Amino acid sequence: MIKIEINLAVVLYLSISILILFIWIFFDYRKDKRVKEDNYNTLWQCPICLHIYIDSRAENISRCPRCNTLHKREEKV
Ligand SMILES: [Zn+2]
Repeated sequence: MIKIEINLAVVLYLSISILILFIWIFFDYRKDKRVKEDNYNTLWQCPICLHIYIDSRAENISRCPRCNTLHKREEKV
């Protein structure tokens, strides 16, 4: 068995805990940022009725679920 002082053990324990916490926050932040970008790309606003909705399938043309009109990406807000 390895003999270490209690101070060193506490420091090692806290260091490893904080390191794991920062790695977790870093990867969670990256994932969160990616999700936000995806949501922004799929967010549409109808120019006719100003209804805001999510259409993840449409790329250039989307159909408004409220007034049922088709509109292009240039008109997207
Ligand atoms: Zn509409």
